Formats: sequence, structure tokens, C-alpha cells
Amino acid sequence: MVVEQLLKYQEVDEKLKAIEDGLKGSEEFKKYAQATKFLKTVDDSRALYEDRSAALISNFNEKQSELSKLIDEMNDLSETLGEDAEEKEISFLTKRASELQKKLQSLEAQIQKLESEIKEVLTQYSTFVKKTKVYMEQRKENKEKYEKLLAEKEAERKSITDELKGLEKDIPEELMKIYKDKRKDGKFKIVCKVENGYCTSCNTELVIAEKEKLKKEKIIECPNCHKLIYV
Ligand SMILES: [Zn+2]
Repeated sequence: MVVEQLLKYQEVDEKLKAIEDGLKGSEEFKKYAQATKFLKTVDDSRALYEDRSAALISNFNEKQSELSKLIDEMNDLSETLGEDAEEKEISFLTKRASELQKKLQSLEAQIQKLESEIKEVLTQYSTFVKKTKVYMEQRKENKEKYEKLLAEKEAERKSITDELKGLEKDIPEELMKIYKDKRKDGKFKIVCKVENGYCTSCNTELVIAEKEKLKKEKIIECPNCHKLIYV
């Protein structure tokens, strides 16, 4: 008796599932869900861009101040060289000047690299902002369309839900809860027949103990695919 009632419930529930699948499978819903998913990550992405650009800018400023110190030192050096320097001193200062020149070149290269990295981050950020705007529009537009679809199906959905509520009264609470939990997984059907000792959902043969259990309890869970099974 319970089996028949549960099967009847499933039969009606299948109509509800078809409506749900139709809604979830609609372009409107897919676009809405896609945009929502992207927009959920926006804050994190923005924080990443901010961190990255803050780090680059601070590095850039550091290098700039190193550069200005280096230039000061080079100016001092050339002034000293311009004065009446001793020959020994000149050789030392010239060596130092060439060291500083090398440092200057390396520093300039590093600054140039940082500049292009900052530019790249700015470009990526601007693309990200544009993409965010597009997704905001996509979400708004498809949310409205999807809600319209929902509204169109509401009467049909409600009549099925009411019918299900009526059928539910004749099914043991515990069993109903198991059914509903499995229903959340989204895989239909939930209740499947056992034929010649085999679960028709997963084609696994039940062991003797399970067959005995099934005989006694009328409806059990398939140990392999976890559907509700009956004979
Ligand atoms: Zn099975």
C-alpha cells in the first residue's frame, strides 16, 4: 500500500520536476545564474586588484627615491671631480662613477618594468570593470525575464504542489523525509523497481539478505545507487 502511494506521489512529482527542469534549463535562468555567479566574486577580485596595484605603486615609489638618491650622489661626484682632485683620488672617483652608472641603468630598467606592470594591471582592471557592468545588466535583464517565466508557471506549479500535499498525508513521515532528501539531489526517479532480484536503476543484483529485507520492509534503499527500491 505504502509503495503504491509513494509511486503515485512520484508520478505527480515528476510533473513538478519537469516544470522545475524547464525553468532551470531556460536561457533566462542560465544567463541570470551565470551573471550572479560572476558578481559574487567581484568584491574579492576588486580587492586583489587593489592589493596588487598598491604593492606595485609602493615598489615604484621606493625605486624612484633610490633613483633620486643615486642621481644626487652622481652629481656630488662630478662636482668633486671638477675640483682640483689628486690623481689617486681621480682614479677612485672614476671607478665609483662607473659603478653608479651601472646601478643607474639597472634601476631605470626596474622602474620601466614596474611601469609596464602597473599599466597592465590598470588595463586588466578596466576590462574587469567593463565586464562587471555587462554582467550587472545581464543579471537585471534575465532576473526579470526569469521571474516572468516563474509567474507564468506558478498556477500549474501550485496545483501540483497542492496535489502532492494531499498525497503526502498517506505516506509515513519518515519515508517522505527520505524521499524529499533524495529529491534535492535533482536525480529522478527516486523510487525504482527491483526485477528478478536486480535494481532497475543501477542494474546491481541484491544479495540474499537485502532481498529478505525488501520482502519484509517492502521498500528499502538500494545499497549501490541509494534509490528507494521495491518489488
Ligand atoms: Zn540500485
